[in-house]
Amino acid sequence: MQQKITLRLTPEEAASNLHIQQKIAQQLSLKPSAVTGFLPSKKSIDARSKQIYVNLSLTAFINEPFHQPTPHAFVYQDVHQATHKVIIIGAGPAGLFAALRLIEAGIQPIIFERGKDVKSRRRDLAALNKSGVVNSESNYCFGEGGAGTYSDGKLYTRSNKRGDINRILQVFVQFGATGQILFDAHPHIGTNKLPQIITAMREKIIDCGGKVFFEKKVVDFELQNNNINGIITADGSSHHADAYILATGHSARDIFELLYKKQIQIEAKPFALGVRVEHPQQLIDRIQYHCDARGEFLPPASYSLVDQVNQRGVFSFCMCPGGIIAPAATHPEELVVNGWSPSKRNNPHANSGMVVEVTAADAIKATQHLNIDPTHPLLFMYFQQLVERNAYQSGGGNFVAPASRMVDFCNNRISTNLPQNSYLPGLLAADLRTVLPDFIAESLSKGFAAFGKKMKGYFTNEAVVVATESRTSSPVRIPRDPDTLAHPQLQNFYPCGEGAGYAGGIVSAAMDGERIASILQAKFKS
Ligand SMILES: Cc1cc2nc3c(=O)[nH]c(=O)nc-3n(C[C@H](O)[C@H](O)[C@H](O)COP(=O)(O)OP(=O)(O)OC[C@H]3O[C@@H](n4cnc5c(N)ncnc54)[C@H](O)[C@@H]3O)c2cc1C
Repeated sequence: MQQKITLRLTPEEAASNLHIQQKIAQQLSLKPSAVTGFLPSKKSIDARSKQIYVNLSLTAFINEPFHQPTPHAFVYQDVHQATHKVIIIGAGPAGLFAALRLIEAGIQPIIFERGKDVKSRRRDLAALNKSGVVNSESNYCFGEGGAGTYSDGKLYTRSNKRGDINRILQVFVQFGATGQILFDAHPHIGTNKLPQIITAMREKIIDCGGKVFFEKKVVDFELQNNNINGIITADGSSHHADAYILATGHSARDIFELLYKKQIQIEAKPFALGVRVEHPQQLIDRIQYHCDARGEFLPPASYSLVDQVNQRGVFSFCMCPGGIIAPAATHPEELVVNGWSPSKRNNPHANSGMVVEVTAADAIKATQHLNIDPTHPLLFMYFQQLVERNAYQSGGGNFVAPASRMVDFCNNRISTNLPQNSYLPGLLAADLRTVLPDFIAESLSKGFAAFGKKMKGYFTNEAVVVATESRTSSPVRIPRDPDTLAHPQLQNFYPCGEGAGYAGGIVSAAMDGERIASILQAKFKS
């Protein structure tokens, strides 16, 4: 017999299968020997009170042999000779998952990626961290796997399409991710594990007959009537297919400029901008777990904070426990930070984006001196660029980032020194109020104080605030017909993923890639 139950366990109990089996027997009033095994379906931590619990939902096997289910295996077809071909621009999660889904449907994907393969990309990241030199084609945003490769690999999303989410997680497991992501409430993979998974995906795409080209930046589109007739890459060659998926991410500003120049409709999209904040991980553990030391049975603690300041949302974003603040710039004179962590999340700091909603009125005001038409579809992108340039100029050059201790920032003081931190290119104590637009600095200041009341100890000079966290989502939306998902002006052109404004994170970008591929499958069948 199999029975679904939920156990409330101490972290120590939850760490031992033997303990769990004993608890199952206890809860079901059985002899321990009657429980032959169990399959977890959901695991979450309840840290609201002093005694922390792990809630574990599972299927218990009782008086019958225990067996592990065979992991789901998606079947990929041979598409070497496929009738239909689809060009995918960008090998981020949206592009890769679109490619895999197309192969399932017997369609050949041809991927063009401006950056390098994951392995070669690592050298460019090392140079950026060590010498502050950014390769504008190969960095934390550009290259195989997209912006998600050298990230924390958090795999949760606010999207509630559970079926699709499970599919994405199952694909990750098929390509090498741990099965634990299928039941963890907050699954994550880690920067050290993602590159192998991305490599395995690419190898599968190529084995099946798909094509993947690196260092092939798409620089132009050939338009004919209401269609795209081909793409042109930086080496001057043109390439043709039945349909074109644009999955170039939120940092491909040249693509947004190209669309604008070619009068392909795009829209300004509000986004959020702010800073990255770093605390000692021990401090966050102490606050969240109400204890002096976390101990060996709990993971490094995280947090999620949100507040309204003067009718404006201020919120934490992409929190990385045990993580590292990374230079995520794509241009030599624009400073952007983000965060990542390894699978064990075992670094001594906890970082998180802390960002403020930006409205059109804010962007218009901040860019007034640039004489930009207030209705310009790239208004938010120009605003983002302006703040990033300002941050670069206020830093110490070579991506040394302007920073402040948290309380100093809120009290309008330049810090006399900065705490130890994880940001490898280095930090320079600066007046962040001259780096950030007034409304951002003001909202963050109030937000930090409010968060300090929600999380006692959060508002502290032990924390460092680093400018600037500006690539939270795309500043542009590329419209799609709600039924066909194609661009309204171009019947075979499919804007996809985060850059087009339809995703915010790895899982939602992957889901959007699959969605476009499924639409194409139906289109080619009819
Ligand atoms: C450091 C960091 C950490 C992050 N951590 C997380 C996390 O833990 N969890 C999470 O959910 N999200 C995280 N994110 C965000 C996440 O990575 C993105 O939301 C996601 O990757 C978006 O997927 P995408 O496929 O739409 O675009 P992208 O991943 O941006 O991929 C776009 C691809 O297109 C390529 N490209 C761009 N222009 C061209 C062109 N002209 N020609 C050819 N190719 C082109 C780029 O090189 C890139 O590879 C993080 C991002 C960063 C930078």
